[in-house]
Amino acid sequence: MKKVCIIYTGGTIGMVKTPKGYAPRRGYLEKKLNETEDFHNERLPEWDLVELYPLLDSSNMTVREWNVIAEEIEKRYDDYCGFVVLHGTDTMAYTASALSFMLENLNKPVILTGSQIPLCEIRSDARDNLIESLMIAADGKAREVCLYFGGKLLRGNRATKYSADGLEAFRSPNCLYLAEAGIEIKYSNALLRAPSDKPFKVTRLSPIPIGVIKIFPGIQFELFEPIMTDKLRGIVIETFGAGNVPGGENELLPIIKKAIANGTVITVCTQCPNGRVTLGAYETSMMLKDAGAVCGYDLTTEAAVAKLYYLFSRGYDSDKIKELMETDLCGELT
Ligand code: ASP
Repeated sequence: MKKVCIIYTGGTIGMVKTPKGYAPRRGYLEKKLNETEDFHNERLPEWDLVELYPLLDSSNMTVREWNVIAEEIEKRYDDYCGFVVLHGTDTMAYTASALSFMLENLNKPVILTGSQIPLCEIRSDARDNLIESLMIAADGKAREVCLYFGGKLLRGNRATKYSADGLEAFRSPNCLYLAEAGIEIKYSNALLRAPSDKPFKVTRLSPIPIGVIKIFPGIQFELFEPIMTDKLRGIVIETFGAGNVPGGENELLPIIKKAIANGTVITVCTQCPNGRVTLGAYETSMMLKDAGAVCGYDLTTEAAVAKLYYLFSRGYDSDKIKELMETDLCGELT
C-alpha cells in the first residue's frame, strides 16, 4: 500500500479569515481534510499529515524552516513513497529551490504545493492541487523536488511565482513542464534521469549573509558601496537582458572590485523570465565579466539565492563556489 507524508508548513491553503486578514490556524487543515471524503478516496494513496509549528505565511520562511522541512523528510524518508509539502505560494519557489540542493541523492518525489484560495472557501484551487500532488507523489515517477500548481508539475529549482492572483500561479520559463494534468497526468521526458544509488543525505543550510540587487535605470551605485563589506558573502545581481548594467567603468566597477576583493561571490542573473545571461555579449556586461563575476546563465533568482546558501553552507571557498555556481548540480541550469 502506497503511503505519502504531507508536511504542512502553512500558506493560504489552510488559512482562515481573521480580523487581521487570512492566517493559518493550528489543527484546522488536518480536521478539514479528515472531514472531507474526497481526500480519502480509494484512488488516492493513504497519507499522514505532519503539521509544523508555528504554521507560517510563507513570507516569514527562513533558512531555519528550510532545515526543519528537510529534517522532517529525512526522519521519515524510508517510511513513505513520497512527500507533499504544503506551503504558501509567496516563497514556494525559493523553498523548492533550496530543497533541491539540500536533499541529495533523492529517489522519491517531493512535491511542493499550496493554493491561491483557501480550502475553506467554496471556490478553491486547494482541492485539485492537493489531490493531484498526492497522486504524483504516489506515482513515484518524478524523483526530484517539484512544484505542482494549476495543472502543471514544474522542476522545483526552475519555478517562479508568476501571478499574484491567477490560479496558474507558477511558471518555469526555461524548463519544460515535468508533467501536465489533463484527463490523465502526462509526464514529459524532462524528468531527471536514472535514480541515484548513493544514500540519501541532507545538507543543512546556514543563514549566510547574502544580498540581491535589482538594476534599474538611474541606479546610484554609490548607495550600495557601504554594504560591500567582507561580511557579505554573495550577491545576486538581477541585470537587464543578457547581463547588462549601466554605470560602466566609473560607477559600478570600483564597487564590484571591492566586493570581489572581499571574497564576495557576485552572480549575474537576468530580470527577464525567459532566456539567459551571456556575459561579454555587450560592452555593458563585459566589465562584470572582466571583474570576475559569475555568469548565472538561466538560473532564476530564487535558485541563485538558494544555491549560494547551499554552497557556502557546504564550506567551499570562493573559487570553488564560483566554479559550482556555473555548473549544473541538479537541473537548475540548462
Ligand atoms: N501569503 C501567502 C503565503 O505565501 C500566499 C499564499 O499562500 O498563496 O503564505
